[in-house]
Formats: sequence, C-alpha cells, structure tokens
Amino acid sequence: MKAADALNLAEERLAEAGVDTPRADAEFLVAHVLGTSRSGVHAARDRELPDEFGALLERRRNREPLAYVLGEWGFRRLVLKTDPRALVPRPETEVVVERCLALLRGEPGPRVLDLGTGSGAIALSIADERPDVRATAVDAAPGAVALARENAERLELDVEIREGDLDVAAEGWDLVVSNPPYVSPDEWDSLQPEIREWEPRDALVGEGLHEEIARLASTRLIVFEVGDGQADHVADALASLGYADITITPDLTGEDRVVDGRR
Ligand code: GLN
Repeated sequence: MKAADALNLAEERLAEAGVDTPRADAEFLVAHVLGTSRSGVHAARDRELPDEFGALLERRRNREPLAYVLGEWGFRRLVLKTDPRALVPRPETEVVVERCLALLRGEPGPRVLDLGTGSGAIALSIADERPDVRATAVDAAPGAVALARENAERLELDVEIREGDLDVAAEGWDLVVSNPPYVSPDEWDSLQPEIREWEPRDALVGEGLHEEIARLASTRLIVFEVGDGQADHVADALASLGYADITITPDLTGEDRVVDGRR
C-alpha cells in the first residue's frame, strides 16, 4: 500500500477505535515505518509501506499508547526509549525540568535526585542541559531502573541510576525533584484506556507522596509535579514543613502543574 492510502486508512481505523487524534497518530505511524519525520510524510506519499505497518496500526487500534508502539518518544532535547516498564514521558513534565534548571542557575556542580525516575526523563534531561550537575535517578520498580539505564547508555549521559525507595531523599541533596504517583484510586476508572490498560499502575496511583517526600527530604530545593487541583494543597504542605519561596507554575494547558520551594 502507498503511504497516502495508508494515511487515510489508518486515520479512519484509529477514529473508529476512539483514538483522540487519529490523523496525527496515522502520520506518526507512517513516518516511523518510512524512517522519516511527521513533516516528511507528505513528500513520501507515493512510497510503498513495509508490511510491518499493519501490525503497528493494529497495536494503536488496541489503544496502546503511541509512544509504546513507536518504541521511542521525544522529551525536551532527547529521544527516549519508551515501553510499559515506565510511564510515557509527558509534555507537562518538561515544565518540571524547566523549573529545576531555573532554580539551579548559577549553582556550581549541584547534587540532584530524581525520585521515581521511570524512563529517566527528568534526570537525563537535567544532565543533558546542565552537564555539570551530579544527577542520581532512583525508582522502586526494577523494570523502570533497567529502562532508565538503557536510556542513559543510548544517550551517553552520565547519571547514577539505582533501585530505591523514598528514603533516598534523606541522603542529602541540593535539589530533589519528583513526579510521584498522584492519581487517586477513584480517578482510575475515568482515565483513558491508553493509560488504564497499558501504563504501569504503580507509577500512577498514589496519595500523599508529595508531602511524605517533602517531610523526609534533606535538600535545599524541592520540585514536584502535581495532579489537577493539587497545587495549593502541596504548596501549603511545603509551607508547613518550613519551605519558603514557594512557586506554582502552570503547564502549557494552563493547569497548575509544578510546585517548588527551598529551605
Ligand atoms: N500525568 C499523569 C496522568 O495524567 C500522572 C502522572 C503521575 O501520576 N505522576 O495520568
């Protein structure tokens, strides 16, 4: 089948399957099998697609996240390997990295901990954009630790990656950053199938972890990603634990997404 026909077919099939953005996803899938970018697809309209395309389309029709189907996904300046061992890196988490970089400006060689690193997105981006940072990335899930290591190796970025729990926050850091599980169990049923049926539940569902980390942490700077409607509560918790200069930053959709402070 030619790329142009495959695009139309895939768009139709993905729309039937309830995918939110069927045209964009069709373009990503076609681009992937042709080894081009999404914007390169139009120049390739007459090319024949390899058979592999059918299998990838079928996976996306089953509502597997596009990032897992493609096996990699862009995050800030990096392309990260993505699979069900960790959450898909999300655009709102790029704002978390932005805040870390802003807070670390002018600090020579800071020690940074990314707690619950998943694919490694936050720690690896900080290491990429601030090569003098001494970054450590920790996750409780062995699969996530393995994936983060694969990403560090692929990208040739120097980050210490280890399996561990929240207590690592107490080891003494200049900055602790975390995008912990913050979806409440009641919200679970309302999540899209891409999330509910494919992403690791332990990376998503959790309550009170921001407060627990902030309480345990031995750090001057702390940066959290928070869920919808959680920013004020997390900011209050930071204030009552003695953190100052508390800042709330919205994501690109305008939802308050990042809370940070210092002590
Ligand atoms: N932002 C994710 C979601 O929408 C949740 C990430 C997390 O729990 N840390 O499901």
